[in-house]
Amino acid sequence: MQYPIKRLEQIQRIDLEIGAVEGEASSVRQAIDGVEVGIKSAQGIVERLEAELAEFTTQRSGVQLHLEETNARVKKAVDRMGEVKNDRELKALTREKSQGTKTSKNIEQELSTVQAKFDEKQAEVDAKMAEIEEKEQELERLTSELDAGKDGREKAVEDKSKQRDELVRDIPQSLLDKYEAIKSSRGGRAVVPVKDEACQGCYIHVPPQLYVQLSRGEDELISCPHCHRILYVEDQPAAV
Ligand SMILES: [Zn+2]
Repeated sequence: MQYPIKRLEQIQRIDLEIGAVEGEASSVRQAIDGVEVGIKSAQGIVERLEAELAEFTTQRSGVQLHLEETNARVKKAVDRMGEVKNDRELKALTREKSQGTKTSKNIEQELSTVQAKFDEKQAEVDAKMAEIEEKEQELERLTSELDAGKDGREKAVEDKSKQRDELVRDIPQSLLDKYEAIKSSRGGRAVVPVKDEACQGCYIHVPPQLYVQLSRGEDELISCPHCHRILYVEDQPAAV
């Protein structure tokens, strides 16, 4: 049998590959969650804006009604002017007409202010709706991306898991347990190379004596004294 370290190194590589495949899918899932949250929040904003819009609509109807009534009063005064019997009546009607016209102008001003606010609010709603539509397209794209890669990912994980099962077969359970324990406490990396005499897990230099032992490739597992990861030297001319 190969040195267990070689096997562990291969198992570590496969575990990282499986992790990468699953990580890819999970980052797409995270993106989907993010977009969904964004859509919900935008929908909430649209709801609030639409309530405000409804208030402006009510306000506008009230102002419009007031304007119609005022205009009708002015018209009535004008109509009655043809039937006046004396100066006093004419004066009164003239005053009513001029006051009504003035009021009507003010109401028109008010109406245009309300309308401007309404338009502004409507533009906000439109912009939010466009944003939602964009996000929904993004969601659709991400969802189909996730679905499209599903079979490939499952196949890749299955193949790698088979390779892993083969590798694991001859390894003592106690060693596997140790590997798993280090892996879960050290961010998924339990077996790391030593490069330039430094552990590539924690980047701290290993003691020279340990490095010599490692370079000899002894059939004994050597752990980093700092991070406790299992160390190996990559197959390349080692600097002495
Ligand atoms: Zn280390």
